[in-house]
Amino acid sequence: MAEPRDSWRDLIRQTMDYFEILHQGGFRYAEGKFEHISAEATSRSPLKRIAGQSKPASSAISAETRGILKAALSDPYAHLAGPERKPMPMPATSSSPRTPQRQTAAATPAKGSLPPISGSQAPPISGRATAGKGKTVTLRDRAEGVKVIATADDLERLRYLVSGCHMCGLATGRTLAVPGEGNPHAELMFIGEGPGYHEDVQGKPFVGRAGALLTQMIQAMDLQREDVYITNIVKCRPPGNRDPEPDEIKACEPYLRRQIELIRPKLICALGRIAIQGLLRNTTPISKLRGTWQTYQKIPLMPTFHPAFLLRDPSQKRLAWEDLKAIMARMAELK
Ligand code: URA
Ligand code: SF4
Repeated sequence: MAEPRDSWRDLIRQTMDYFEILHQGGFRYAEGKFEHISAEATSRSPLKRIAGQSKPASSAISAETRGILKAALSDPYAHLAGPERKPMPMPATSSSPRTPQRQTAAATPAKGSLPPISGSQAPPISGRATAGKGKTVTLRDRAEGVKVIATADDLERLRYLVSGCHMCGLATGRTLAVPGEGNPHAELMFIGEGPGYHEDVQGKPFVGRAGALLTQMIQAMDLQREDVYITNIVKCRPPGNRDPEPDEIKACEPYLRRQIELIRPKLICALGRIAIQGLLRNTTPISKLRGTWQTYQKIPLMPTFHPAFLLRDPSQKRLAWEDLKAIMARMAELK
């Protein structure tokens, strides 16, 4: 029989999976309730089939298990439980009697809850990096979060961690977090500033007007978007598209570091002042830095202009093209 610890680990995985689907389908779980926050996201999601139903469709997981999953959510660090922590309650098996507490949990499934997806679809996940919404993120939470991020062993897992992250204040204003996308073995990684309106709604990086220009820039390098990896220095949209604050960049950086460790790009292209200065931890003007090779996490980094800036001032495209050519030349040398 599975060790109890393995079983609840599975429950956490299923929970995260369940929430990821909800999240991508435009729902948010807050203070014990599901809220519908994005009709557009729902319309693009398998949830649209069930979102209109007044009652949840039949569930692959029992109401009792669902109650336990809810309990799991209130302890996002359960997977890290050491001997000093109380184990989470386990779902009753045929041989283990139900406790009154479990029955209570089962009797009050989350209002408006939706059916979980089956365990067979569940990608592995070891837990969340962050405290839940509404909780104060303590230094200890943060330290634990950083540990979880630093040991996430694939990009999928990292994506889950990002999608539930509350390590900085940007979490409260986002629709969807934008972890990044592209080739998990990309040789070239682009790092922008942070999601804008379109990215926030779709959960994908660089999908607005600046994104269209970035796609053209990538194609001009004889590459496709799918060949490279695209992400941002902060994964959640700053309200009103303001610049991310240094403490937000700092809180989010562990995700980027781990993405780089997992993807191991040969080269990085940093887009725009915020990304460049945030990564390099300096305030050197972009006019000085662009076109000059720098290093981030021991990887050569080329700073260049942000595509949104190039849209405003197309005369600078010539210089940006020089930077992209420098990347192409270096890439050819590295082959
Ligand atoms: N600008 C950015 O810096 N990142 C995006 O993902 C979109 C626009
Ligand atoms: Fe977490 Fe980064 Fe989003 Fe802040 S911006 S909540 S650190 S994912």
